[in-house]
Amino acid sequence: MNILSVASEVYPLVKTGGLADVVGALPAALVPHGIRTRTLVPGYPAVLQKLKKKKKVAGFDNLFGHPASVLGAEIDGLDLLVLDQPALYARDGGPYLDATGRDYPDNFRRFAALSLAAAEIAGDNVIPGWKPDIVHVHDWQTALTPVYMHFGAARDTPSVMTVHNIAFQGQFGASIFPELGLPPEAFSMQFVEYYGDVGFLKGGLQTATAITTVSPSYAQEILTPEFGMGLDGLLASRVTDLSGIVNGIDADTWDPQKDPHIARHFGNGTLKQRAVNRKALEERFALEKGKGPIFCVVSRLTWQKGMDLLAEVVDDIVALGGKLVILGSGDAALEGTLLAAASRHRGHIGMVTGYDEALSHLMQAGSDAIIIPSRFEPCGLTQLYGLRYGCVPIVARTGGLADTIIDANEAALSAKVATGFQFAPITAGGLRLAIRRAFRAYSEPKVWARLQNQGMKSDVSWAKSAERYASLYSGLLAKG
Ligand code: ADP
Repeated sequence: MNILSVASEVYPLVKTGGLADVVGALPAALVPHGIRTRTLVPGYPAVLQKLKKKKKVAGFDNLFGHPASVLGAEIDGLDLLVLDQPALYARDGGPYLDATGRDYPDNFRRFAALSLAAAEIAGDNVIPGWKPDIVHVHDWQTALTPVYMHFGAARDTPSVMTVHNIAFQGQFGASIFPELGLPPEAFSMQFVEYYGDVGFLKGGLQTATAITTVSPSYAQEILTPEFGMGLDGLLASRVTDLSGIVNGIDADTWDPQKDPHIARHFGNGTLKQRAVNRKALEERFALEKGKGPIFCVVSRLTWQKGMDLLAEVVDDIVALGGKLVILGSGDAALEGTLLAAASRHRGHIGMVTGYDEALSHLMQAGSDAIIIPSRFEPCGLTQLYGLRYGCVPIVARTGGLADTIIDANEAALSAKVATGFQFAPITAGGLRLAIRRAFRAYSEPKVWARLQNQGMKSDVSWAKSAERYASLYSGLLAKG
């Protein structure tokens, strides 16, 4: 089976979030199922520079006003198709924002072009001798693909639309519609019209053959007004085509037995070695030495991530004899509040602002627990790293957090399946109670070690999820 995967970012070439990880990791995990994936991404400078051997495999005389080429290349086992159109992608900034942090004003054109190119490739003979059986698109940037397919040669090819975060929808004023090259009837409820605007994600959700999101719980949540961000009604009308498949993690990069970023390697049978990482962490964050648990937070500092709730419980953590280390950046006010807490509790709370991949590994290896109080979380990755590193997750009961962590309630503890702590309601009070439960468990070393061991045994690899994608694809083909 041949898949055309279409995305605005792919690890290891260009990454701003979990989307890139999924798009980068899934193709290899699908190979054992006999599925070959080609991944179409824009030819940003960061992408073109990293391609070694590239070959033009297709071309467009006029794609949104300019000629464009499709370059074929292989990198890290990924079979890439790179849409080379300098007028749209040869820019100094990131994939979406210019160097000053503003959205490119022509983002609608940049990503409509990507979507149109994908739809054309899915049709006949654009790439001689190759055509996908299924087109899989990710997030709003590629969501017009199924719409273009509907009005083009690939009308009968099934498509899958994956939503990584429904908060980002690609909504633009109606005045851009004529530029999209879609027939007038596409500006309607059945396609891209969205409260009088053009909605890219809306169009994709309306038109794709199947819809997925990155956890079963999030798939349920986005059917409600609270989480659906205006698209809950549409999704409810497509509920039989909607499913949730959790992400896996890159098990090579995140392996405590060979991680180059940590002070001492360890595994399930050698948890005691974590003490060396704890010491390194204490030094890095200038913490006083002591016996209590060290909690960590590695996160964007935003309302979504519940960082205001964290700020409300820091005094309790210290009062109960714990320590807290924070790595993150984001909202300036939240950053200020947490920095103030760190200076109020010098030696007990440490904070590093900014993005530091290596430090994030040491924090998972040296802390006892990771706190993730997100108000919504489509899947979440840091709790999965925590499981793998014996860093017990304390998570809000939402989305992928609810689906991947087994709460240490009495039944789960006695069945020896618990891997962390969940809390609800998602309030400071809820989080405070979960932290108290964690302190209690930590005071019983056997209970704590069991939580760590169960977590480390959890399967957080891509294997299971790839199996689900493979069976979704097969189902679509069987349906014809
Ligand atoms: P989201 O994509 O919503 O930010 P995820 O949990 O899905 O949340 O993924 C976040 C990823 O970014 C994880 O790999 C996490 O370790 C990493 N991360 C977040 N903040 C930082 C930071 N300040 N420094 C290093 N890594 C970070």
